[in-house]
Amino acid sequence: MRSAVRTSTPPPSAPPLDVDRIRAQFPLLAREVAGRRIVYLDSAATTQKPQSVIEAVCDFYRHHNSNVHRGVHRLSHEATEAYEGAREKAKAFLGAADPAECIFVRGATEGINLVAQAFARPRLGPGDEILVTVMEHHSNIVPWQLACEQTGATLRAAPIDDDGALIWDEFEKLLSERTRIVAVVHASNALGTVNPVKRIVEAGHGVGAVVLLDGAQVAAHLPIDLPDLGCDFYTVSGHKMFGPTGIGVLWGKREHLESMPPWMGGGDMIERVSFEGTTYADLPGKFEAGTPNIAGAVGLGAAIDFLADTGVERIAAYEHELLEYGTGRLSAVEGLRLVGTAPEKSAVLSFVLDGVHPHDIGTILDHEGIAVRTGHHCAQPVMDRFGLPATVRASLSVYNTREDLDALAGGIEEVRRLFR
Ligand code: PMP
Repeated sequence: MRSAVRTSTPPPSAPPLDVDRIRAQFPLLAREVAGRRIVYLDSAATTQKPQSVIEAVCDFYRHHNSNVHRGVHRLSHEATEAYEGAREKAKAFLGAADPAECIFVRGATEGINLVAQAFARPRLGPGDEILVTVMEHHSNIVPWQLACEQTGATLRAAPIDDDGALIWDEFEKLLSERTRIVAVVHASNALGTVNPVKRIVEAGHGVGAVVLLDGAQVAAHLPIDLPDLGCDFYTVSGHKMFGPTGIGVLWGKREHLESMPPWMGGGDMIERVSFEGTTYADLPGKFEAGTPNIAGAVGLGAAIDFLADTGVERIAAYEHELLEYGTGRLSAVEGLRLVGTAPEKSAVLSFVLDGVHPHDIGTILDHEGIAVRTGHHCAQPVMDRFGLPATVRASLSVYNTREDLDALAGGIEEVRRLFR
């Protein structure tokens, strides 16, 4: 029997959200595909961008474009102000204590690689362990595998149950004084599972490990409160939170960031360079070698403004209701099995349909103007766990509606009819 999806309880105080007003801010949602208004259900891969973000990037290039930090001229001051202003916004959004703890990176992948190479690699050796879970995105597996190859440390993965939830007892059993780093996804992109991250942080700290949380799938869906989470590192991708691609944030505790050597060398990360020896810039510059993605940071700042104006708690409440509706709609389709039915879930509906390959489903839905993702979702160990080559994933965002989910359910019925 299929187990019921119980989704995360939304905050009771959140006032309702005006989805028509939200949708009107996203120009791409007015596009037609296959002669119909697009039904975009692939926000876990990347979110669409509100007009304010598009305009912020254009405005930067039109009126303020210059390199940061190096110039005395007006434009360089403006660019620096815009870039550092975006860092301030990231700081406030994450609840960080200090903007210098917010390192601009290309995205969550680069954030995790930075920690693996600059924090883990110099500290690890044979006998040390890194603990992840089976539900990680490849970006939170492969950087640790590389660090293990380089140091002789061992990577362990905590298992998940049939609903796609972390098996807590097994996770605890894998924690020991050998565990130096715990790296866990806050919300899974393939299953939607929201992990008990506070408990994970406490348990990790209990054995003396440092804890990194991968927040790529959280920033546009659930509030993030770093002091409350208590983790050591947290990383997000701008493009999954209504911002541009190629920009993200790695937040780290100052003491950790200060203890780490630079990862990449080049301009901007130095204090003074000579052939006798080079000294490095203070945080955050030490980890931002080369000309950064200035316009990307500006766009991310605008995306954070959009999130703040809309209210992440209101988004969480709205998506909770949408997820429940979609779960009901899809569960009613004969032969459809949801993959990922954990008690705490966010905006992902992964599924398989008896007798039809996920790629065929995706292609047929595309002909109906419905954009979903099919494949392993960069989480092959999740697919292995469920014995599947792939799933279809419909992922939700604040601009989706019940009508989108009706269209999806109707499209799947059409697939069933074609394959009957
Ligand atoms: N972690 C998770 C959970 C993700 O969903 C993704 C992107 N799908 C990443 C990490 C990597 O993010 P990016 O590709 O933006 O670096």
